[in-house]
Amino acid sequence: MSDTSEVIAYCPGSFDPITNGHLDIIERAAQLFDRVIIGVALIAEKTHLFSPEERLAMCREACAHLPNVTVRTFEGLLVEAVHQAGARIIIKGLRQAADLSHEAPMATMNRSLRPEIETLFLLASPTYAFISSSLIKWVCSMGGDVSAQVPPGVAPKLTQRLAEAAP
Ligand code: ADP
Repeated sequence: MSDTSEVIAYCPGSFDPITNGHLDIIERAAQLFDRVIIGVALIAEKTHLFSPEERLAMCREACAHLPNVTVRTFEGLLVEAVHQAGARIIIKGLRQAADLSHEAPMATMNRSLRPEIETLFLLASPTYAFISSSLIKWVCSMGGDVSAQVPPGVAPKLTQRLAEAAP
């Protein structure tokens, strides 16, 4: 049975793949809230390197040390997934100003759809402020070592998948 006094935060994203920047935000959220749910987005129009199951498995493995963090997939409107999960807070990471320009309209729209759900922003830690899944994939596709930027286990999967995808 769920405890209604629990404060549950929801961290949505593509996680294609999860990076140490994502993990930093998740670990900090796990300190702030009773429970954190990671929502791996299933967006048909977006092309991903990894399948939803692979992205979910990598997130689970990366968060295995965090007892109050669980991982699931979601599709459709984010606020509906958050509501159904019993959460009232959406956590987003902000790297630079460009992230805010992208996130502010979504947060405003989400609040008008479900006013009881708040979006909270955590500033990226300086070490991770310039890390994105797309940059990691690009560097790795050029043969660069990204193992310092992703959780253990992710870099070999990236190298293998990019080699399979290479023409
Ligand atoms: P990306 O923006 O890298 O494609 P996602 O769509 O999976 O990644 O992003 C999910 C959330 O994680 C967003 O709120 C995004 O701002 C945040 N995020 C992504 N990378 C970082 C990072 N290096 N530091 C902090 N937050 C991040």
